[in-house]
Amino acid sequence: MSLSRFKLLRPRTVDEAIDYLAQYGGDVDASGPLVQTQQRLRIIAGGTDLIPSMRQKLFEPEYVLDIRHIVELNGIHEQGSEVIIGALTPLSTIEHSELLRRRYPVLAEAASTVASPVIRNMGTIGGNICLDTRCLWYNQSLAWRKACGFCIKKDGDLCHVAPGGTKCWAAFSADTPPALLCLNAEVEIATPSGTRRLALRDFYTGIGDNYRRLQPNELLTRIFLPAESADYRGVYRKLRIRGSIDYPLAGVAVAIKRSNGHVADVRIALTAVNPAPVLVKGAAEMLAGKAFNETLAEAVADLAAKTAKPLTTSALTPEYRREMIRVFTKRALLPSND
Ligand SMILES: Cc1cc2nc3c(=O)[nH]c(=O)nc-3n(C[C@H](O)[C@H](O)[C@H](O)COP(=O)(O)OP(=O)(O)OC[C@H]3O[C@@H](n4cnc5c(N)ncnc54)[C@H](O)[C@@H]3O)c2cc1C
Ligand code: SF4
Repeated sequence: MSLSRFKLLRPRTVDEAIDYLAQYGGDVDASGPLVQTQQRLRIIAGGTDLIPSMRQKLFEPEYVLDIRHIVELNGIHEQGSEVIIGALTPLSTIEHSELLRRRYPVLAEAASTVASPVIRNMGTIGGNICLDTRCLWYNQSLAWRKACGFCIKKDGDLCHVAPGGTKCWAAFSADTPPALLCLNAEVEIATPSGTRRLALRDFYTGIGDNYRRLQPNELLTRIFLPAESADYRGVYRKLRIRGSIDYPLAGVAVAIKRSNGHVADVRIALTAVNPAPVLVKGAAEMLAGKAFNETLAEAVADLAAKTAKPLTTSALTPEYRREMIRVFTKRALLPSND
């Protein structure tokens, strides 16, 4: 599977990147970002997902914006009470960072489960946050998709997963965003008119073929971790087919704060079972101020399973993936994980 021809653009600064995006990124749509597969320019960071997708002709951009040489976007540092992570920071740096392992362990653990060591050395946190949604009917070669009549996400007008519908349900399948949601992380977006900052939970749309709020002339530049989320105990559990290297087919991140043997706060987020990573609403209310016990953990695990809406987008059945959300949540909550 060869790559189609494209023109490579190589900025050295965020300003240069924004100039290129303004010039070649294409039209900004006031009603929302363009469907990803139609964009004429693609940003490349580590390239670990973009290049295989381009080989499969899922993206056929005229321009590729290679941001790897923007040094200012690589690294982790403390500023005041918050921690700032540049979008180009490799996942392996996040996995091994002493600062993150101590203050935000759920993020370091989630990063350590992505793919394999080689891919974590190349793949970036920005690319992980912006990762395209996945589906059994979409992540295939052009010949395979053509033989099936294509689908709404790329080149077609029907959905094999929810026939008769008009929406794409491809699953958001990255590991670090649920951990970041538990930490109340914010992201910085560079635009031609300056930068804006938004909560990560507002970055995703929940629509499989148009999954993130990022215009064609915008770049995700930084991630902010607030001080109030430091020191939560964190656990990330993931279901995958090949233990050594695979995308999640269900994932649960849990961050818990305790006080005097009671739960002071808990945040739970899911990945790979909806078109966006999602926080489990109501978990903190069920647990706050209470001492942990098995019955309570089961009730919260039920809530997490109800939040998961897996469909037939992957090789494992929706029923099994939903059940594993329940199992992982319960295991993550029980004090034996402390
Ligand atoms: C065999 C294999 C296994 C994998 N397993 C996993 C896994 O277990 N878990 C997992 O989460 N991922 C997995 N991946 C996917 C991928 O390796 C990671 O998600 C990685 O973090 C992507 O980062 P990247 O820098 O390589 O992104 P790229 O491939 O460069 O980009 C990914 C997407 O993000 C966009 N993008 C990148 N950076 C920015 C930015 N700063 N601003 C705006 N848009 C941006 C790109 O345009 C593209 O759409 C796997 C990939 C492979 C090939
Ligand atoms: S959910 Fe439907 S439209 Fe979306 S990628 Fe899968 S088959 Fe295509």
